[in-house]
Amino acid sequence: MQHLPLFADLRGRDCLVVGGGSVAERRALLLIEAGANVHLVAPELSETLAELAADGRVTRHARPYENERLEDYWLVIAATDDRTLNARIAADANAARRLCNVVDDPELCSFVMPAIVDRSPVTIAIGSSGLSPVLTRWIKGLLETLLPERLGVLAALAGRWRERVRVAIPDADERRRFWERVVSGDVAAHAFAGREREAEDALRGGLETWARDDRRRTGEAYLVGAGPGGADLITIRGRQLLANADVVLYDRLVSPGVLSYARRDAELICVGKTPRRPSITQKQLNRLLVQLVQAGKRVCRLKGGDPMIFGRGGEELEALAEAGLKFQIVPGVSAAEGCAAYAGVPLTLRGVAHAVLFTTGRTHDAGTAAPTDFRPGQTLALYMGVAQYAELAAALIAGGHDPATPVAVVENGTTERQRVIRTALGSLARAQAALEIAPPALLIVGETARFAERYSWFEPSRVEFFEDESAQARARVSY
Ligand code: SAH
Repeated sequence: MQHLPLFADLRGRDCLVVGGGSVAERRALLLIEAGANVHLVAPELSETLAELAADGRVTRHARPYENERLEDYWLVIAATDDRTLNARIAADANAARRLCNVVDDPELCSFVMPAIVDRSPVTIAIGSSGLSPVLTRWIKGLLETLLPERLGVLAALAGRWRERVRVAIPDADERRRFWERVVSGDVAAHAFAGREREAEDALRGGLETWARDDRRRTGEAYLVGAGPGGADLITIRGRQLLANADVVLYDRLVSPGVLSYARRDAELICVGKTPRRPSITQKQLNRLLVQLVQAGKRVCRLKGGDPMIFGRGGEELEALAEAGLKFQIVPGVSAAEGCAAYAGVPLTLRGVAHAVLFTTGRTHDAGTAAPTDFRPGQTLALYMGVAQYAELAAALIAGGHDPATPVAVVENGTTERQRVIRTALGSLARAQAALEIAPPALLIVGETARFAERYSWFEPSRVEFFEDESAQARARVSY
C-alpha cells in the first residue's frame, strides 16, 4: 500500500493553499466543505476565490509565496502553475513535516487527494496512488450508481442510536448482528426511500423485540467452498456468508485473496493439514467447529474447491448434525472443474468423452486405490497423490489404459502460478520426477487432455510438453 487512506477532521484547522487559479479554487472549495480555515497565498485570485475572500470564507494573503511559516498549517496545497515554485513549497513542507499536496505532480506529494463519493456522513475515498485519476473517477462513477442516494440518512440514524443500542445490547457480537439486521432490513429500506420517521420507528421496534427473539443467538456453521484458487472463483453466496462470519476456519489451500472477504474483526484460524507435518486432526477440528457454533458464533468453514468433494465436509456435517446445530452449505468450483476450465480441457466432449469420474489415486481406506479399469469414453480427474503418480500410472495401464492416453497435470490451477504439463500416461512418472510436479496438482487422464494446448487461454498459465511433442498437432476435433 503506497498511501494510507485517512479521514482528516479539519474543522477549524488552518490549511494553506498556494495559488489563485482554478486548480487552487477546486482544492480550496473542498477544504471549505470540510470546515477548514483556508488561507490563500496568491498575488492574484480567480473570481470565485476573490468572492470567497470578500465573504470572509477564506483568509487571503495577497503576496507571492516567500518564506511562509508552514508549521502554522495542518495541510499545505501547492497549486501554482510554476513547477519550480511548487517543488520549493513541497520541500518547505517536508522540512516543516507538514503533509503537502502538489497538484498534478504525484512525485512531489506527501498526500494525494482521492476521488470522493460523498454520502455524508458516509464518505468513500478512492485513490490510485496518484497514478490514474481517470481510473479513480471511473470507479467513483460506478460507486455513485451502486450506492443508495440516502445512505447518509441511515448512517446518521445509526449514529444517533449507537449509544442506546450499546446499552441495550451489551454483548459485542450480538450487537453487531443487530446492526447487520438494521443495515440490511426494513430500517435501511425506509431510510433509503426517504421515510426517516418510519426508519427510526423500525429501529426502535427492532431494538425492543430483539431481546425476545432468540433465533439470532444460536450460532450457525457455513460450509463454504472457496473455489480452486483464483480469488474471484468463490460464489456470490459464499462470499456473502464469509463476510458475515465471526470466525473463519480455513484450509491451507484457500487463497489470501478469498480470505480478504472476511470481516476485518473476524477471527481467522488456519486448520489446514500439511502433509507429513503435525497439525490439527479432523477429530479436533470437528470438536472446535461444534464448540464455536455452540458458543453462538457464526462460523465459516472455508474449504478449497467444493466442500463436498474430497474435503471431508461430510464428517464435519455429521459432527454438526450430531450436536443438533444449524448449518448451511455453499458449493464451490471444484479443482477438477477449475483446472479443466483454466487449462482448456473439456471434461466431456461429444463423440470423445461422455463421462467424467472425480476420484483420487490415494484413498484413506485402501492406500493406492485408483479405479483402474479402463472404460472407453471416460475422463478421469484425479485429486491428490502427486507422490504416487508412478504407481497410479502403472495401475491404470494394468487396468487396460493405453500408455499413449493423453494426460494433463494442472499444478496450482486457476492461480497466477498455474502450470500445465502435457504428456502421455506412460510418461507420467518420468514427467513427475523430471519436471518436479508438486501439489496441489490435478491429473486429467483421457482423450480430451490433448486439448490443453489448443484451447489454452489463461495468460499466466505455462504449458509444458513431456515426451509427447506431437500432441499439439493431434489436437484437432472434427465433427
Ligand atoms: N475440496 C477440494 C479438493 C480438496 S483435496 C475441491 O473440490 O477441489 C485437495 C486436492 O485438490 C489437491 O491435492 C489437488 O489434487 C486438488 N487441488 C486443489 N486446488 C488445486 C489447484 N489450485 N490446482 C490443482 N489442483 C488442486
